Amino acid sequence: MLHNDQLEQWDRENFFHPSTHLAEFARGNLPQRVITGGSGCHIEDRDGNRLLDGFAGLYCVNVGYGRAEIAEAIAEQARELAYYHAYVGHGTEASITLSKMILDRAPDHMSKVYFGLSGSDANETNIKLVWYYNNVKGRPKKKKIISRWRGYHGSGLMTGSLTGLEVFHKKFDLPLTQVIHTEAPYYFRRADRAQSEAAFVAHCVAELEALIDREGADTIAAFIGEPALGTGGIVPPPEGYWPAIQAVLQKHDILLIADEVVTGFGRLGSMFGSEHYGIRPDIITIAKGLTSAYAPLSGSIVSEGVWKVLEEGTDRFGPIGHGWTYSAHPIGAAAGVANLKLLDELDLVSNAGAVGAYFKQGLIDALGDHPHVGEIRGEGLLCAVEFVEDRDSRRYFDPTRGIGAALNGALLRRGVISRAMPQGDILGFAPPFCLTRAEADEITGKLAESVKEVL
Ligand code: PLP
Repeated sequence: MLHNDQLEQWDRENFFHPSTHLAEFARGNLPQRVITGGSGCHIEDRDGNRLLDGFAGLYCVNVGYGRAEIAEAIAEQARELAYYHAYVGHGTEASITLSKMILDRAPDHMSKVYFGLSGSDANETNIKLVWYYNNVKGRPKKKKIISRWRGYHGSGLMTGSLTGLEVFHKKFDLPLTQVIHTEAPYYFRRADRAQSEAAFVAHCVAELEALIDREGADTIAAFIGEPALGTGGIVPPPEGYWPAIQAVLQKHDILLIADEVVTGFGRLGSMFGSEHYGIRPDIITIAKGLTSAYAPLSGSIVSEGVWKVLEEGTDRFGPIGHGWTYSAHPIGAAAGVANLKLLDELDLVSNAGAVGAYFKQGLIDALGDHPHVGEIRGEGLLCAVEFVEDRDSRRYFDPTRGIGAALNGALLRRGVISRAMPQGDILGFAPPFCLTRAEADEITGKLAESVKEVL
């Protein structure tokens, strides 16, 4: 085994890490943690630390670490057939079975699944499909995509543009011109103090209507949104938001893409966020929870209505010119099949709902009255605590104080991983679905200690 010093040097010399302050890393001011193992809700590093992962990696290791069933399914697939492509009608037992398992779990009106590798490429696929759809329908001008401020949809050219967080645009010349942003359904931050939730929903709807009027419905192809905002702050929508938004989209013949990369396969305590909030999407994006990140795999699930138009398109224009070498990769598909089986066998979606509610209540009991806690919010095992300088005015802390990062660090020193969300002093929690009540209590207790230390 290599010495830590050797690995650290190679790391600094060779490895371009994503979402990282490159200069600080080069100066040795960022941690170089080498993760070596994991089991259940815990990971271990090379220094012998055992950490309770309150964010399931990047909210993706939903069934927990160290699942032998998935590892074995991957190994068996690799031995039998590591790779074959899915072009022109090819498949494997794993990819065909997985497509059936996904459609069995998706809302009834969904029809087919197109496989990709990541949430970002699945959303890129979605936008191409939506453009193709409108071209087949003879509406070449209907191409703009509406996304929300605070939405996160990936890091590609189009998906980075759809993302409504400045840090993902800065100095990359994004967003691209076809993307337009509308109000975030973020009641705590965006509503006037005296505004009811219902009045705030009416405001979001009015903003959307005004945008559509300004741009022209005949230029707008689709609206994309996460059922509950994730990376933008972990924000469940206000009551009645989705039915109201959906009514506007239907009126203007605008397709709805539900980005369920985080919420798909149980994180909110329901199989899909669409089901949870009564959304009827035309396309659903899936990734992370599809394989619990045991192998990279994503998907775009299209409705029967969209599918019919795509089929008509190929009759008129020939085979659809869109494919990745690794679409429906057999190893990813084998991981997906084993993962979805495990989710059912261990009843993990119900556990996410039940333990999620217990965890949130514990946070409220421990921190709900703290003068610097603005809001504790969440659904299932997707939960956040937003910290503020002043509770009454909801004033932010001065960002240069880095309160969110300091809290995240204090919690980590106590052996618990959270995520300091990229905008505002928000700590996010999205643990594996096998989280026990004792583990939930441990996170809550250590967070309360960290808050005492930092604030
Ligand atoms: N969509 C949502 C809602 C996400 O949270 C993410 C990633 O966090 C993505 C898309 C992009 O997925 P990936 O990082 O796999 O490209």
